[in-house]
Amino acid sequence: MIEFRNVTKTYPGGTAAVSEFSLTVPSHRTVALVGSSGSGKTTLLRMVNRMVEPTSGAVLIDDVDVATVGRVRLRRSIGYVLQAGGLLPHRTVADNVATVPVLTGTPRRAARMRALELLDRVGLDASVADRYPGQLSGGQQQRVGVARALAADPNILLMDEPFGAVDPVMRRELQHELRRLQADLGKTVVLVTHDIDEAFTVADEVVVLREHAQVAQVGTPAQILARPASDFVRRFVGLETARRELHPTTVDGRTILVDRDGRPAGVLAP
Ligand code: ADP
Ligand code: MG
Repeated sequence: MIEFRNVTKTYPGGTAAVSEFSLTVPSHRTVALVGSSGSGKTTLLRMVNRMVEPTSGAVLIDDVDVATVGRVRLRRSIGYVLQAGGLLPHRTVADNVATVPVLTGTPRRAARMRALELLDRVGLDASVADRYPGQLSGGQQQRVGVARALAADPNILLMDEPFGAVDPVMRRELQHELRRLQADLGKTVVLVTHDIDEAFTVADEVVVLREHAQVAQVGTPAQILARPASDFVRRFVGLETARRELHPTTVDGRTILVDRDGRPAGVLAP
């Protein structure tokens, strides 16, 4: 369980990135923090692994204030996936994945075995292990980033716009794979995104943020769509756009769902 207790972050120079933010993220759940650029998402995420220290308030993991845990130990115990994959370009894929296990004393051969196992887990062929990140596609690099974050078998996975740099088709595929992986592994995942559709696809619970990380609404995707808490949320999730409002209509004996403009969005399963 991750608990943000009334955290505030004011950067030197006076930017109030986060103002009195509180949230509990239950264990084994996937929570998405979603908001526009500059709403404080990255700042919130980095407070969990102490890459950013709050100006006031505290972040607790399983009731322990992270400020009391050594930074290095804390960071090695939490998986962190970045937008661009954050891979070391001059090291092979296997070495990238094995970085933390090697740092924490796992023998090389065992670390390599573990790396190969993790590559398989994220859907990559063992043949990529000895390539360099630059020789992989964007989607493959993101998978390697996820494998690396999982290498130390952390309970917590932090993901900062993890699929932002890949094309839309690959992005959908990675989102669905994250859900499958999460069903297998049961990590506590905090994912940051500006994309509400991504949040709705991957998260059990969604936190819609306004500026300064003010919470506009917390709920399941279904709850947020059914009862948006304000006009801000309604706009943010696109309830004012045609595509969210679906109506059934019958075509050739099947029930098709069309949006407000009459464009087909899907078909009702029989
Ligand atoms: P998001 O990830 O939602 O785009 P950030 O947490 O990166 O938001 O940033 C929130 C606000 O804090 C922005 O106004 C940003 O410019 C500012 N900010 C972020 N990091 C720093 C920093 N290291 N120093 C000063 N201001 C920062
Ligand atoms: Mg950010």
